[in-house]
Amino acid sequence: MQTDTIIIGAGPIGLELAVAFRDASCPYLQLDAQQLGHTISWFPRQAQFFSSPERIAICGVPLRTVDQSKATREEYLTYLAGVVQQFDLAIRVYERVEHIEPLHVDGSASQTQSPRFRVHTQRADGKHQYTCRNIVAAIGDMHHPRRLVLADRTDVPGSQLPHVHSYFDEPHPYLNCQLMIVGGRNSAVEAAIRCYRCGAKVSLSYRRKQIDPTVKYWLRPEIEWLIKTGEITFFPNTLPVNISTTHVTLAATSDEGTLAVDGAQQVIPADFVLPLIGYQMDPTLLAAAGVRLIGENRRPSYDTDTMETNVPGLYVAGTAAAGSQTQYRLFIENGHSHVVRIARAITGKDPIHVNPLAYRRLHETPLAQET
Ligand SMILES: Cc1cc2nc3c(=O)[nH]c(=O)nc-3n(C[C@H](O)[C@H](O)[C@H](O)COP(=O)(O)OP(=O)(O)OC[C@H]3O[C@@H](n4cnc5c(N)ncnc54)[C@H](O)[C@@H]3O)c2cc1C
Repeated sequence: MQTDTIIIGAGPIGLELAVAFRDASCPYLQLDAQQLGHTISWFPRQAQFFSSPERIAICGVPLRTVDQSKATREEYLTYLAGVVQQFDLAIRVYERVEHIEPLHVDGSASQTQSPRFRVHTQRADGKHQYTCRNIVAAIGDMHHPRRLVLADRTDVPGSQLPHVHSYFDEPHPYLNCQLMIVGGRNSAVEAAIRCYRCGAKVSLSYRRKQIDPTVKYWLRPEIEWLIKTGEITFFPNTLPVNISTTHVTLAATSDEGTLAVDGAQQVIPADFVLPLIGYQMDPTLLAAAGVRLIGENRRPSYDTDTMETNVPGLYVAGTAAAGSQTQYRLFIENGHSHVVRIARAITGKDPIHVNPLAYRRLHETPLAQET
């Protein structure tokens, strides 16, 4: 099958792009390895977005919440499904793009409309191929949880045991249990507060001296109070170096947050361990297609006016443009402007249905470009 543009990914930015192509009558195909909004679907149940609703609304469709506060995972997934229904978007879900094969096209006038890529996919009924002129990779940047590693980058022994959960789903399984949470940013802090309130005996190990100062302003005083009053036990300047079925061994870290040479160790009881230390992008798909990856974050190289990578016809959108973020600087709200940049480059038209922030942010350099 041949089409003009293939959008890989049906997260919020991929969906906003699909509507832009639809409005411009530009033939496209949208594929997602999972279900639409997959990244949001594994947020903890009832987790609230940190961004306010108007910033994460897409396609100009208002996002309303029952109490006018920030949207929950459930509200936002329902909202995304409504947008898909409203614009009648056809998404091929559960179809993973496994390989992007650039085709040889010379610059001659006869080849200006020729396909530039063959896209290889896998779905339940087998392998498929499509050819297209353009690809937009809106594949996100949270493909794998960060691993717990020792100084030599090998896995912490025991970190693959079944009671070690890198995704926090809900607090109930930890009721009346000794729970060790690893991390000191939003996800870890929010999980610690929720699990404590649910009745878990929570310990928090963080490699720094204090909870990350960027933790959201409504979480920080609460965690600090719970630590101060001894309701949650905080182990600052520590990292796990061994996990058994009943205990976690914590070792001291330096002020930089790395394991100290010959640092003191302490063994803490733990029925469950939740390492909530961030997520990483899998850049293999882009790298294999020839996209240059830059710096420690392995950020794709792209033109800030068009979001086109160094591979002609291959664009990046949304958080995929950032690579693996250590400090989160690229979110949904600054991804909307990617939609305008890409729509202009591919269709020659401005999107009609897009978050108004897209136009306000258009003249800013995408933040990821600075990292
Ligand atoms: C707990 C938590 C809270 C967060 N809160 C906020 C917040 O308040 N505000 C905010 O802006 N962001 C927040 N984020 C981050 C947010 O999830 C991302 O900003 C957002 O999902 C990015 O949208 P996107 O469309 O760029 O990519 P994603 O939503 O990540 O979508 C990428 C899609 O691509 C698909 N895909 C990946 N690889 C392939 C492949 N090879 N083939 C086919 N499909 C593929 C995936 O299945 C996925 O559906 C939070 C994240 C977490 C974990």
